[in-house]
Amino acid sequence: MLYIVATPIGNLEDISQRALRILKEVDLIACEDTRTSGIMLKKYQIETAKISFHSYSDQGKIDQLIDLLKEGKNIALISDAGTPGISDPGFLLIQAVRQAGIAVSPIPGPSAFLTALSASGLPINHFLYLGFLPVKKGRQTLLKKLQEEENTIVFYESPHRILKTLKEFNEYFPERKLVIARELTKIYEEFQSGSAKELLDYFSKKTPKGEFVVIMAGKDF
Ligand code: SAM
Repeated sequence: MLYIVATPIGNLEDISQRALRILKEVDLIACEDTRTSGIMLKKYQIETAKISFHSYSDQGKIDQLIDLLKEGKNIALISDAGTPGISDPGFLLIQAVRQAGIAVSPIPGPSAFLTALSASGLPINHFLYLGFLPVKKGRQTLLKKLQEEENTIVFYESPHRILKTLKEFNEYFPERKLVIARELTKIYEEFQSGSAKELLDYFSKKTPKGEFVVIMAGKDF
């Protein structure tokens, strides 16, 4: 069995009893980064063997994990934070494991975009999740398309690109309400809302740091 185990996005208390039990019981934990996950695993005295599985892992690594699963081993897949497969490595492994006829079971938990949406104050019965926006190719086409989007839009952004994105959004979506969630579940968690221009002014005051989720209201909100 391959378990897809969600882990905290900051606050290490945000992990389920079931996730902890599975991580203790499996034969192997496939981690995006064994050192990053090591901190959380150490806190919960989980001594299960670890193997790395990251975005650069090749078919050889997938085949190795499938062979272990076929031998009857139980493996848990975790990423650096949140739910594996959500803008994180996992999809190719999960697809290959399913194709091999091996069971895959999800152990639910946090995801940064859902955590941000839940407290955003914007309508979230319907939303469009975009992961990270394309940096170059397809970006302008996507932004033009989003001018017509009626649902709330949510995406991930890096601290290095947030100001550039807000400048661009001020051109494409000057009237739309935005919410920026930064450092969710951590000491410096903050939610800031306003127009792209207002948020640009706010985040330009000092070099942006930390992890960001950007949410934008749909066209008619
Ligand atoms: N798999 C993860 C999930 O389920 O949310 C997402 C992984 S993606 C590689 C990492 C991005 O998620 C970060 O660059 C940031 O945009 C967002 N993120 C992760 N943790 C966050 C946090 N505590 N606060 C705000 N954004 C966060």
